[in-house]
Amino acid sequence: MNLVLLGPPGAGKGTQANLICEKYKLSHLSTGDLLRFEIANESEIGLKAKQIIDEGKLVSNDIIINVIKSFFNNNKNSSGYLLDGFPRNTEQAKLLDKLMLELKNKLSCVILLDVDEKHLKDRILSRSKEEGRSDDNEETLIKRLETYFNETMPLIKYYNEAKLLKKVSGVGEIMHINQSINSIIDHL
Ligand code: AMP
Repeated sequence: MNLVLLGPPGAGKGTQANLICEKYKLSHLSTGDLLRFEIANESEIGLKAKQIIDEGKLVSNDIIINVIKSFFNNNKNSSGYLLDGFPRNTEQAKLLDKLMLELKNKLSCVILLDVDEKHLKDRILSRSKEEGRSDDNEETLIKRLETYFNETMPLIKYYNEAKLLKKVSGVGEIMHINQSINSIIDHL
């Protein structure tokens, strides 16, 4: 089973991804986490990505291709994948389609975590106090939301037309949202 978690910054993708991966034994690909790891290690990729991330923009597809190729290489024998934060634009979605073909695999479903703007802002600003992410501040948040609306939202149409999209409200109790997701997965 291969799933994509789609949703704006602050929708709770990371939290739900961890719960889903544990229950269904999937490998978790978080391009954001992998990029933060590169930044912490001050690698070449990390140095290139840091400023772009802090500006709330998307890092180049070339960098993302590098990151995901090494992820799939390191997780070859996985029974399935949960993709969180990837794809983030149409070009990446097409790249993923190609990759799935190469792996002789396919996407089972794309789960959209739907959260309104007011909740997103509150969550990200409180997360900034807990985790200290350098891109969790009000100025970058506005830019990240803009990037989401302009570049990532077209994927909703893309996956809707592919009949893969399932929408879940991401507002409310974590475990309640998780149950809604589990029930979608159990019916795949
Ligand atoms: P996230 O942790 O998924 O919110 O990602 C944090 C930041 O990393 C984003 O705001 C982007 O700058 C960058 N990023 C993460 N995933 C991608 C991706 N698939 N494509 C481009 N940039 C990404």
